[in-house]
Amino acid sequence: MIIGAHVKSSGGLASALRRGRELGADAIQIFTQSPRMWRSSSHSPDELAAYRAAQQAETHVRTTFCHATYLINLASPDTDLAERSRNCLVENLVTASAIAASGVIVHVGSHRGEGFERVAGAVARRLLSALDEAGAVLGSATCPLLLENAAGAGGTVGRTFDELAALIAAAGGDARLGVCLDTQHLFASGVPYRDEPEANAVVSSLERTIGPGRLGCIHLNDSKVVLGANRDRHENLGEGEIGAEALGHLISHPGLATVPSILEVPGSGDGPRAQDVIAARAILSAGLQWRNRRKGLSAQ
Ligand SMILES: [Zn+2]
Ligand SMILES: [Zn+2]
Repeated sequence: MIIGAHVKSSGGLASALRRGRELGADAIQIFTQSPRMWRSSSHSPDELAAYRAAQQAETHVRTTFCHATYLINLASPDTDLAERSRNCLVENLVTASAIAASGVIVHVGSHRGEGFERVAGAVARRLLSALDEAGAVLGSATCPLLLENAAGAGGTVGRTFDELAALIAAAGGDARLGVCLDTQHLFASGVPYRDEPEANAVVSSLERTIGPGRLGCIHLNDSKVVLGANRDRHENLGEGEIGAEALGHLISHPGLATVPSILEVPGSGDGPRAQDVIAARAILSAGLQWRNRRKGLSAQ
């Protein structure tokens, strides 16, 4: 499994690759523009080309994901905000595709009490139109758009696999749409994976609802809040309410083996550190050992 980390891209996009390498990460995630501002960063064609070249020449960091702006709310009943969100998503998709990213990860947003069913169709139309418009700007295919599961606060859309699956279905099952699974959001939304059978049930449910092949990325985070707390609060691996053992049971599932995992942990306040990447690898290998031992026991 590829283990990566979210890194800063200040000082030029390509500096993110160096930061990832220094962390010992196999993959990185970056913001292509300030995550809490609408204003898009203008990256010159030269800077985008330089990134692609640097990524190709890079020997450690194999792939890049982009996280979309947090202000985006594709489910907003306020049509001006929803349109602004769609436009912002287009910009995120264009930049990410121009650097040959493996995907743009987006929080769908909140329906603010309208109810999921009332907004699902409009969200699906906005997703498709953003992908189409980005493709037209680029004159080529966009990178995949990955909808992230939500922790379930307020009227957030995508709090269950069923909701994410319903959005993809409403978008006609478009092949450009996928899913990003955040382990902290999953736990905070009330889904436990304390042991191997529970972890297996999570992956089965994902495959049953969203289908195999749509999971493009995992956000690997522990949780500052308890199971079902519905709050998005990441913690360093093994230091939170989920714990190293449960995370190991989940990410060692053979169905997730080819899905890159990205750390978005706080570290010591400045994001993932090299020791967090090392901790993630240790958690994965412990999980794999438990699975092998269990398999050995059941074969006896
Ligand atoms: Zn996210
Ligand atoms: Zn989060």
